[in-house]
Amino acid sequence: MNGLDFHHQRSAQERPGTLWYSARLVILLGPPGAGKGTQAQRLAQQSGLQHLSTGDMLRDNLRHATELGKMATPFINEGRLVPDDIVLGMVQDRIAQSDCVNGFILDGFPRTLAQARGLERICRVYKSKSITVVNLVVHPDTLVRRLTNRRICKLSGHIYHLIDHPPIQNGICDVDGSELMQRPDDNEDVIRERIRTYECHTRPLIDYYAARGLLCRVEAMGHPDAVSSEIKTLLDRQEPTKQEARSSPPLATRVNESLGK
Ligand code: AMP
Repeated sequence: MNGLDFHHQRSAQERPGTLWYSARLVILLGPPGAGKGTQAQRLAQQSGLQHLSTGDMLRDNLRHATELGKMATPFINEGRLVPDDIVLGMVQDRIAQSDCVNGFILDGFPRTLAQARGLERICRVYKSKSITVVNLVVHPDTLVRRLTNRRICKLSGHIYHLIDHPPIQNGICDVDGSELMQRPDDNEDVIRERIRTYECHTRPLIDYYAARGLLCRVEAMGHPDAVSSEIKTLLDRQEPTKQEARSSPPLATRVNESLGK
């Protein structure tokens, strides 16, 4: 039994799939630097959905020097992907927690087809109703510029850009006054490897979700305000009414149907 099967079986037995019944799931897809983190933070604030970033979870493990963190360190430092079963187990444990009961936004997950299939299995267990995949589209030339200029609040993760969205006071978070830092993997060599990794492993998910009728495309070159307002509009449009939510079959069922299962 691999790590995922272990987590999967345990969670399915202990939590019979009632928690999530009305939960909404939003997946943010896009290359490194597309603005997934920024948009996920904004959307979480507006919607009350929980923001789940696998990058943040892994860095948290790294900071606390857990076994998972130690194992993940070389992958993160070199811009490669942490193995699927580790990431899937971590995500499955996180979304089983009670603060995800009203739904959540996945930022940086899934990143491979194996992770997407794993997530689909999890959705079936929990009978998740509403899934939207937002593909943030940006011109590749802007990615390196965005990421090398990115600064992050050490305390709460607020994201700044030295040119497009600088903090009022140099090196200090506008929101809580904490120090800003640069992520060690936001250096040019690692960024280029992360983009290569995206092209090879994550870009195929666009077709994967398009084939399931779940994909929405959002132009993400503009100001973050404009992008978040576009995301909000499209999610509002898809919001199931309470009546529909009670009467329609769970989305996992529809996904299965579209898969011919
Ligand atoms: P991010 O904060 O999303 O840019 O992720 C930072 C790094 O964490 C990535 O470059 C990967 O090394 C690792 N990572 C984050 N999410 C995943 C994932 N879903 N699968 C594998 N590795 C991941």
